[in-house]
Amino acid sequence: MADASELPKSKEEEQGPAKPEEEDDVNSEEEETEDMDFLRNLFSRTLGLDSTNKVLDELTLEGVAQYIQSGKCKNIICMVGAGISTSAGIPDFRSPETGLYANLQKYNLPYPEAIFQIDYFKKHPEPFFALAKELYPGQFKPTICHYFMKMLKDQGLLKRCYTQNIDTLERVAGLVGDDLIEAHGTFYTSHCVSFCCHREYNLDWMKEKIFADSIPKCDKCSSLVKPDIVFFGENLPARFFSSVKTDFPRCDLLIIMGTSLQVQPFASLVSRVSKSCPRLLINMERAGQAEPLLGLLGFGGGMDFDSDKAYRDVAHISTCDDGCLALADLLGWKAELEELVKQEHARIDSHDKKEKASESSNAAAKNSSASVAPEPTKEE
Ligand SMILES: [Zn+2]
Repeated sequence: MADASELPKSKEEEQGPAKPEEEDDVNSEEEETEDMDFLRNLFSRTLGLDSTNKVLDELTLEGVAQYIQSGKCKNIICMVGAGISTSAGIPDFRSPETGLYANLQKYNLPYPEAIFQIDYFKKHPEPFFALAKELYPGQFKPTICHYFMKMLKDQGLLKRCYTQNIDTLERVAGLVGDDLIEAHGTFYTSHCVSFCCHREYNLDWMKEKIFADSIPKCDKCSSLVKPDIVFFGENLPARFFSSVKTDFPRCDLLIIMGTSLQVQPFASLVSRVSKSCPRLLINMERAGQAEPLLGLLGFGGGMDFDSDKAYRDVAHISTCDDGCLALADLLGWKAELEELVKQEHARIDSHDKKEKASESSNAAAKNSSASVAPEPTKEE
């Protein structure tokens, strides 16, 4: 063990054909050799440092931009979390940092997390819907970061966006269908919890129930109706797992934004891309790094931004909007991105105005029962 520190170097030189087995005093030597082999394999596997793995010329935003422009980067995956929506005024629904759990006392929960637990919800849905009302965004206006992802899509570069958010802002920004995996579900749709019914309801329907302080009940069977967000105790959508399997091995660039990579299984996705795939983190703090000791031994597959062995991970510490603007600037997309944000926000504002106007005229007509009719839904 004394010379462990020089193992990799000294062994490199004397590595030759394995010595024939001899019974005498080789026992300890053999053990040592095994140790060395183990360590050498571990190191080479860990460091994975043959030059073919190095894709970026430099581990900076500039390096990433050059790579995107090189034409070699065709499949970009974005992984995003609550941090991309904070500038839209949306609180992190499940994060203790919002002071949310401290604020739950009035609901008389057995323990704070119960509010997001499926078993509790089915028996006592009131606290969840009261909280949903309290936290309901005044406006669903996507951020610069959301529209940056839309630009990646329009450029034909976006393989898929994996989001932990349930705020539907990716959809509002124009990521639809195949573009998007909502790993923790979405508020965009809701379903009757009865297995035999499972009728679907839209966001407007749910919003109206929430703001009327009434517990949403199925029009058809009177069972509870639940937003399609993933509660604790529920499985992630099947599409999440099937898509991860096919998407990540083909990924040319992973862009991770607004998440501290602490919720599983989402967090572990960073290690599902190939060893050569560059990974860009845009976040207010570093995230996803391996535990120091495990990292040293090469376990954990965490991010490595600046050790001697760093070769593919880039950390850009800023808000997601600023990071996306900076990257867009380097790509020559900045003016277009700013124009897109301006136009889309203006469109949402005018749509909101129209809606408010029609809401008040509806109210005047006292037509409330007609307006609860859901959009056409699957009848079963
Ligand atoms: Zn039903």
